[in-house]
Amino acid sequence: MDNTRVLVTGGSGFLGSHLCERLLNDGCEVLCVDNFFTGRRSNISHLLTHPRFELMRHDVTFPLYVEVDQIYNLACPASPVHYQHDPVQTTKTSVHGAINMLGLAKRLRAKILQASTSEVYGDPDIHPQPEGYWGHVNPIGPRSCYDEGKRCAETLFFDYFRQHRLRIKVVRIFNTYGPRMHPNDGRVVSNFIVQALSGQPITIYGDGSQTRSFCYVDDLIEALVRMMNTGDDFTGPVNVGNPDEYSMLQLAREIIRLTGSRSEIVFKQLPTDDPKQRQPDIALAREKLGWQASTSLQDGLEKTIGYFAERIESLNQTPNAIN
Ligand code: NAD
Ligand code: UDP
Ligand code: UDP
Repeated sequence: MDNTRVLVTGGSGFLGSHLCERLLNDGCEVLCVDNFFTGRRSNISHLLTHPRFELMRHDVTFPLYVEVDQIYNLACPASPVHYQHDPVQTTKTSVHGAINMLGLAKRLRAKILQASTSEVYGDPDIHPQPEGYWGHVNPIGPRSCYDEGKRCAETLFFDYFRQHRLRIKVVRIFNTYGPRMHPNDGRVVSNFIVQALSGQPITIYGDGSQTRSFCYVDDLIEALVRMMNTGDDFTGPVNVGNPDEYSMLQLAREIIRLTGSRSEIVFKQLPTDDPKQRQPDIALAREKLGWQASTSLQDGLEKTIGYFAERIESLNQTPNAIN
């Protein structure tokens, strides 16, 4: 890839920052657009002096006029704690953000990839989840702003594809973790690691029997780039995730083991509509992208623990440095 101009919305977030870095390494020009709701400058501070990197503070719910060849639309808070903080803004980000980015792609005839989510399957009654499954989603609950917002964004992508012949790519991302998650992100892997490293109780919601399948960030980024570079006839949706499935109790025990922590496990109330199980069927990703996750949970957790251990240490040395 050479001199391709790529827009990454949500580029200073957890996944977006890794994607910007990867695209720069591939030789692209990268325009990172973010309103810094959950993203941080520190995630991309090492890229700011790169000659092919540009940062723009902008909210995707407003129109955006720039010139690019490809768009990765990642802008949207992903942690339940953050997307429920201002649920109306979450829906606007998914829906108005998708309309604006699709309008931009239409004007430029640019290829556009949507970071969709396993949440479009809701609390699934089919297991593992293939792309053909339509899901089991509560339209009026506390998670709906995210789930339905992302479902509507998928609808918009496919309508722009049918109506305006846009070149679209829809990826359904399953739980992904790794360095640069915010320590207060609220998602389970970062919560457990920060709790284990700082000797606080590990908070399991419910009885810990609910399951998730965790993908390491480098594997996920590889799949996003492969998806963007598939032929125009392949739109997705395609599931991307690591099918190895764990209960939250197993995850807590593994993190305690790997950190050597003395933290106790405490049980808290299970949030409303929390999905009981989740595992991607990745047959389509294997076939169309030649992709499967290659990082084991242990290897990925070790790298992530290393990242948080370093951050906690530097925070202890400079107590006012929040980011
Ligand atoms: P994140 O919260 O770290 O990143 C989201 C980024 O979007 C942040 O930088 C935030 O500031 C930015 N943003 C939010 N609203 C915006 C707006 N209106 N305008 C501009 N920027 C805005 O989360 P992440 O884990 O990096 O997730 C990135 C994308 O991937 C999201 O769309 C999310 O739904 C999707 N996804 C992630 C996962 C996962 O496990 N990490 C799973 C499924 C889907
Ligand atoms: N849009 C944008 N950048 C562009 C082109 C369009 O942000 O370069 C926005 C525009 O504000 C519009 C949306 O994308 O609200 C959808 O554009 P489209 O052309 O599909 O629809 P229309 O403008 O006809 O409503
Ligand atoms: N969870 C937990 N303790 C925490 C944070 C989350 O037990 O401190 C649980 C949560 O209830 C859910 C699972 O871990 O069952 C994954 O939660 P996360 O917010 O990471 O992602 P999502 O629910 O969106 O898959």
